[in-house]
Amino acid sequence: MFSLPPLPFAPEALEPHMSARTLSFHHGKHHQAYVDKANAAIKDGPLANASDEEVVRAAKAQGNQGLFNNAAQAWNHSFLWNSLSPSGGGAPSGQLKELIDRDLGGVEGFAEKFKAEAVGHFASGWAWLVHDGQALKVVSTHDADTALVHEGLKPLVVLDLWEHAYYLDYQNARPGFVDAFLAKMINWDFTAKNLAA
Ligand code: MN
Repeated sequence: MFSLPPLPFAPEALEPHMSARTLSFHHGKHHQAYVDKANAAIKDGPLANASDEEVVRAAKAQGNQGLFNNAAQAWNHSFLWNSLSPSGGGAPSGQLKELIDRDLGGVEGFAEKFKAEAVGHFASGWAWLVHDGQALKVVSTHDADTALVHEGLKPLVVLDLWEHAYYLDYQNARPGFVDAFLAKMINWDFTAKNLAA
């Protein structure tokens, strides 16, 4: 069973970069709906007691696109909330910094690549920093698709590119939203924890 995790920060803690009003819809309505629909689809079936990750992987393996869309969106949003922090932005440290320097040209190079990927991504989806087993990479996925089920990719941090993530605060201006994520919200501690896992 999926559940809606509480936000790891107060709803107004990301203002003015992401408003409590955005989060009330994005977490309280959109994420809740993905959780409810995924649960309705697995209720009483063999996946009823599986972990969230297992459900996403099984839906992909079975070609069950309806379940995959809702389960992957539920997983992606839980990962998203942890990718954001009221004390986010700035620069990474430790092993993460070393790899960003080596593979992406430092935090400025990372920000350039991430912004280009996120702004250039057509329509809905997700922008990710991943590790592919050899190096850090910036990639994007369409709609509900998740780096979790891409062979060899370890998701480290994510940004939601669906309009519901930014329309109330930025209207159609995705570049401003991506800038605010990179400068003020990206959670490097969560990113480093995923790299080390
Ligand atoms: Mn979303």
